[in-house]
Amino acid sequence: MRIGSASKRFVPHLQNNNAAGGGYLKYLKVIWPLPITAFGLMLAGIVQITGGACKRYGNALEASNGAASRLLWLMNPWADIEAITLGHVILARDLATAKRLRIHEHTHVRQYERWGVIFPFAYLASSALAVMKGGDAYRDNVFEREAFEAQFFQRENTKL
Ligand SMILES: [Zn+2]
Repeated sequence: MRIGSASKRFVPHLQNNNAAGGGYLKYLKVIWPLPITAFGLMLAGIVQITGGACKRYGNALEASNGAASRLLWLMNPWADIEAITLGHVILARDLATAKRLRIHEHTHVRQYERWGVIFPFAYLASSALAVMKGGDAYRDNVFEREAFEAQFFQRENTKL
């Protein structure tokens, strides 16, 4: 598929699937964040039955449209969230947003594979640390910085 080959080119972690540490390690990467992925799958199910779309892209399921916007609002009514990653599930308000933020959100998937169920706590700790240092809870969060860097790198690549 064209989309698949594009993802292999632009999503760095997809290139490393067969690298050293393959084999059962790839199952651990799926199992480690599984409780959060399960919550994400429940939300993806709601998106699906409310007329949205669920599509696998790389090693994540992207759920968009349907009730996605409302679910994102329910998760944080104070911030205008466009997309959120829950383990191996990405919830985006619509298809265009899912596509635009794909590299960013897939970076969070990779972070979940590293940190597993403790990722949300590590994320909050990083935000707290950023605020304590006088920075921004979102932009200065180390996990967001990595995701924004990946997004920027992808944008540079597509110019080639
Ligand atoms: Zn992010």
